[in-house]
Amino acid sequence: MSKYKITIDKNRCVGSTLCMMEAPDIFALDEEHQAHVIAPDTLDDEGVLTAAHACPMNAIFLEEIETGKRIWPRA
Ligand code: SF4
Repeated sequence: MSKYKITIDKNRCVGSTLCMMEAPDIFALDEEHQAHVIAPDTLDDEGVLTAAHACPMNAIFLEEIETGKRIWPRA
Protein backbone atom coordinates (compact mmCIF):
# COMPACT_ATOMS: atom_id res chain seq x y z
CA MET A 1 0.00 0.00 0.00
CA SER A 2 1.21 3.49 -0.82
CA LYS A 3 2.35 5.63 2.06
CA TYR A 4 0.37 8.45 0.47
CA LYS A 5 -3.30 9.16 0.41
CA ILE A 6 -3.90 10.40 -3.13
CA THR A 7 -6.67 12.88 -3.84
CA ILE A 8 -7.40 14.53 -7.17
CA ASP A 9 -9.01 17.94 -7.12
CA LYS A 10 -11.55 17.69 -9.93
CA ASN A 11 -11.91 21.47 -9.97
CA ARG A 12 -8.26 21.75 -10.95
CA CYS A 13 -7.75 18.78 -13.26
CA VAL A 14 -7.84 19.76 -16.93
CA GLY A 15 -7.22 16.26 -18.30
CA SER A 16 -3.71 16.96 -19.56
CA THR A 17 -2.78 13.25 -19.06
CA LEU A 18 0.70 14.10 -17.77
CA CYS A 19 0.10 12.10 -14.60
CA MET A 20 -0.84 9.08 -16.70
CA MET A 21 2.30 9.42 -18.76
CA GLU A 22 4.42 9.37 -15.62
CA ALA A 23 2.49 6.63 -13.83
CA PRO A 24 0.12 4.79 -16.20
CA ASP A 25 -0.48 2.00 -13.68
CA ILE A 26 -1.77 4.45 -11.09
CA PHE A 27 -3.71 7.17 -12.91
CA ALA A 28 -6.27 7.10 -15.71
CA LEU A 29 -8.80 9.48 -17.21
CA ASP A 30 -12.48 8.93 -16.57
CA GLU A 31 -15.29 9.49 -19.05
CA GLU A 32 -15.27 13.18 -18.19
CA HIS A 33 -11.58 13.41 -19.09
CA GLN A 34 -10.45 13.92 -15.56
CA ALA A 35 -7.84 11.91 -13.75
CA HIS A 36 -8.69 9.33 -11.16
CA VAL A 37 -6.63 6.85 -9.21
CA ILE A 38 -6.87 3.29 -10.48
CA ALA A 39 -4.39 1.79 -8.04
CA PRO A 40 -4.70 3.40 -4.61
CA ASP A 41 -2.84 0.43 -3.12
CA THR A 42 0.20 0.92 -5.33
CA LEU A 43 3.64 0.37 -3.83
CA ASP A 44 5.16 2.79 -6.32
CA ASP A 45 5.46 5.84 -4.07
CA GLU A 46 8.12 7.30 -6.35
CA GLY A 47 5.73 7.09 -9.29
CA VAL A 48 3.00 8.78 -7.27
CA LEU A 49 5.34 11.62 -6.36
CA THR A 50 6.66 12.02 -9.90
CA ALA A 51 3.13 12.18 -11.29
CA ALA A 52 2.04 14.74 -8.70
CA HIS A 53 5.05 16.90 -9.49
CA ALA A 54 4.29 16.66 -13.22
CA CYS A 55 0.72 17.93 -12.91
CA PRO A 56 0.60 21.46 -14.34
CA MET A 57 -2.48 22.30 -12.26
CA ASN A 58 -1.26 20.96 -8.92
CA ALA A 59 -4.41 18.88 -8.91
CA ILE A 60 -2.88 15.83 -7.24
CA PHE A 61 -2.82 16.16 -3.47
CA LEU A 62 -0.68 13.79 -1.45
CA GLU A 63 -0.97 13.25 2.26
CA GLU A 64 1.35 10.99 4.21
CA ILE A 65 -1.01 8.46 5.75
CA GLU A 66 1.11 7.82 8.84
CA THR A 67 1.51 11.45 9.87
CA GLY A 68 -1.38 13.18 8.10
CA LYS A 69 1.13 15.65 6.72
CA ARG A 70 0.46 17.17 3.32
CA ILE A 71 3.36 16.36 1.02
CA TRP A 72 2.12 17.92 -2.24
CA PRO A 73 1.37 20.59 -3.27
CA ARG A 74 3.62 22.26 -0.77
CA ALA A 75 1.73 24.64 1.48
S1 SF4 B 1 -1.61 15.82 -14.77
FE1 SF4 B 1 -3.03 16.97 -13.44
S2 SF4 B 1 -4.35 18.11 -14.84
FE2 SF4 B 1 -3.34 16.51 -16.02
S3 SF4 B 1 -4.79 14.77 -16.00
FE3 SF4 B 1 -3.35 14.47 -14.29
S4 SF4 B 1 -4.36 15.40 -12.51
FE4 SF4 B 1 -5.39 16.18 -14.35
